Amino acid sequence: MPGPTLAITGSNGKTILKDFLAHSLMSRELVYASPGSYNSQVGVALSLLARRTPVALAIIEAGVSQQNEMQHLAAMIRPRHGVLTNIGLAHFEGFGSRAAIAREKIQLFRDLPPEGWLLIPDDPLLDEALLADIRCPIYRFGSDPRLPKLIATSPAGRGRSQLHLAFPDGQETFLQVAIDYSWREVFQTLLAGICTAWLFGISANSITRYGGAFNPPLNRLELWQSEQGCLLANDSYSADPVSTRSCLSLFDHYQGKNTWFIFAGMGELGERGAYEHRVIGELAARKQVKHLLLTGPHADATAEGYRHAFAEGVVHQFDDTAALTRYADHHAKEAEVVLIKGPREARLDTLTNLFKSKLTQTVYYISLTKIRDNALAYRGLMPADGKLLVMLKAFAYGTDAGQIARFLQTHVDFFGVAYVKEAVSLRRQGINNEILVQLVLPDDVDEVARLDLQPVVFSLDVARALNTAAERHNTRIKIHLKVDTGMGRFGVFPDQVGPLAAAIQELKHLQIEGLMTHFSSADDPEADAFSREQLAGFEQARAALNALGIDPPLCHAAASAAAARFPEARFSMIRIGLGVYGIYPSREVAETLVLKCPVTLLSQIGSLKTYPPGYPISYNQRFTTKRESRIAFMPLGYYDGLSRKLSNQGYVIVNGRRAPIVGSVCMDFTAVDVTGIEDVAVGDPVLVFGEWRGNSIRVEELAEMEGTIPYEVLVRWSHRIQRIYLMDEE
Ligand SMILES: *Cc1c(COP(=O)(O)O)cnc(C)c1O
Repeated sequence: MPGPTLAITGSNGKTILKDFLAHSLMSRELVYASPGSYNSQVGVALSLLARRTPVALAIIEAGVSQQNEMQHLAAMIRPRHGVLTNIGLAHFEGFGSRAAIAREKIQLFRDLPPEGWLLIPDDPLLDEALLADIRCPIYRFGSDPRLPKLIATSPAGRGRSQLHLAFPDGQETFLQVAIDYSWREVFQTLLAGICTAWLFGISANSITRYGGAFNPPLNRLELWQSEQGCLLANDSYSADPVSTRSCLSLFDHYQGKNTWFIFAGMGELGERGAYEHRVIGELAARKQVKHLLLTGPHADATAEGYRHAFAEGVVHQFDDTAALTRYADHHAKEAEVVLIKGPREARLDTLTNLFKSKLTQTVYYISLTKIRDNALAYRGLMPADGKLLVMLKAFAYGTDAGQIARFLQTHVDFFGVAYVKEAVSLRRQGINNEILVQLVLPDDVDEVARLDLQPVVFSLDVARALNTAAERHNTRIKIHLKVDTGMGRFGVFPDQVGPLAAAIQELKHLQIEGLMTHFSSADDPEADAFSREQLAGFEQARAALNALGIDPPLCHAAASAAAARFPEARFSMIRIGLGVYGIYPSREVAETLVLKCPVTLLSQIGSLKTYPPGYPISYNQRFTTKRESRIAFMPLGYYDGLSRKLSNQGYVIVNGRRAPIVGSVCMDFTAVDVTGIEDVAVGDPVLVFGEWRGNSIRVEELAEMEGTIPYEVLVRWSHRIQRIYLMDEE
């Protein structure tokens, strides 16, 4: 592979640094950068193989999660230059100490040639001994007089910050970046980027000018239902062949008679431009996208690739984004699914704002990819032939059953719902997985037969009604017998399972597919003896069935807590609800499984006012300012799901700092005290729960503050709050 390579590693900020360099500072030269966050053993290999034309510089990101991985990456990359962003705590469990992480990361740079250089942070862990056998010059950003320095930082209006820089040649400049000031921790990474550019000979002026064009790519596809009624997928932050191909996989999950792909092309592909665009057109055709809306320099190539493979498809070409936006404004109501993709320079934000403008001020972000990863973490507890059921009752715990089901359908065997009505809605949305229904009412039996649902059965009356319905529809219904082993809700007692099963065996249109029970206290270690009694009751019921010669293919007992805590309760299927949302039913479960946090609720500052000391805030004067106070209201109240119990109790995060909730929570609004928090402005984001820009508030914590269980907190967010679904592959 000809041409020099710059290798980047570090605990955080690798991708941002790579994008900062590739998209703004060095794009004037022919620079290749690894796509997305391709930094694993496989990602690095793919990044290297995807590099085709000779380039002036290849920027390759490398990440490790365990010891002795880096040497393989180093041998593949063979860098001439290296940057280490920082030594943090990511993947700490694979190493055991920060020193071990530092040692591993430095492996990437062991063979840098003398004509190269290495840029590292000013961290005492990176001492002489560790760097002893590195043969090239070493620079430390932040302290080295040969490098640019960050003198000061300040907010520069909504969503922007200003960096005051001093260069070794004596120049001082101000670099404005599209990064919110609350995300200050990323500035050190940008400084590393600025120093890298400087070491490559880029001038202070160019750094300031081109660095200002940097927008941190969100690297994630956002999905939401627009006011116009279509499902909108927005990925208008960046476009390259890899990310464009990957976002077209949206159409594997969502199909329709009127699907749109709005594509503004991909930049900086040199002589491969026409070819790569044609490939995208062909792929859109293969995904059966019905309307292709194009703008950008290689629109002809995309159109040709598409028409060639899909003659019935409709292509609209536009001279510029403005013309495309005007068209979309008129016709979007006809569309069912719209995918928007293009490079930042195409300024597709006017188009997405057209759809976005009517969003409410509080947004509930739900990461479909993280939900999938959590489901797969649970699947990992099961043997290869074990089955996984994901509970989608109560709108998938308040997130949206249809969206989650569509995304999970290929990863999950069963979905579970409480009522038949919920299953009807899933079937209507095209979900073909097996669906377990917890409670069947007399009116529901025909739907069960018609839609091929699997009901939970614990009474002979219901079984007979189901049998008659199945006969009417000329089908067989698979049922799951439920045993009440101590939950005290549904099911027959263990000693009644035999007689019930024997009677059901006579009903020729029913088939006993499963035997199940449910734990009442599996989250609570103090109640483990009780849970074991429940298990024993279940075994007794199983033996009674076996004695009748019935061996149901599925036995299932465990939900999120028991699946993690009681391996012996996993049987042939586990039924997971809360866990897929990354929430632990109890602390003990957190010790057994590592889950990701897919749910984040962000509100914003709706109003701001300074009050004198002694002034009452909100209804019934339940809070009085003790000092001069800056009080903000956010557009989120108890109607939306923020419990009134959090009045004077809870807190939110504003600009990276805790802001207590003060006074009574109102129906639509809530006051938070932002006194002493710098640079708060109307419109600033407020984290209510979840993870965002390095801050986090766990749902469990919110539940504790108001004295309830995380389940209740998770499920109750009103449908007034806009949900945005993310596909954010890491
Ligand atoms: C809700 C429910 C589950 C899932 O429970 P989680 O604790 O959320 O995992 C499993 N089985 C039954 C019968 C349920 O009602």
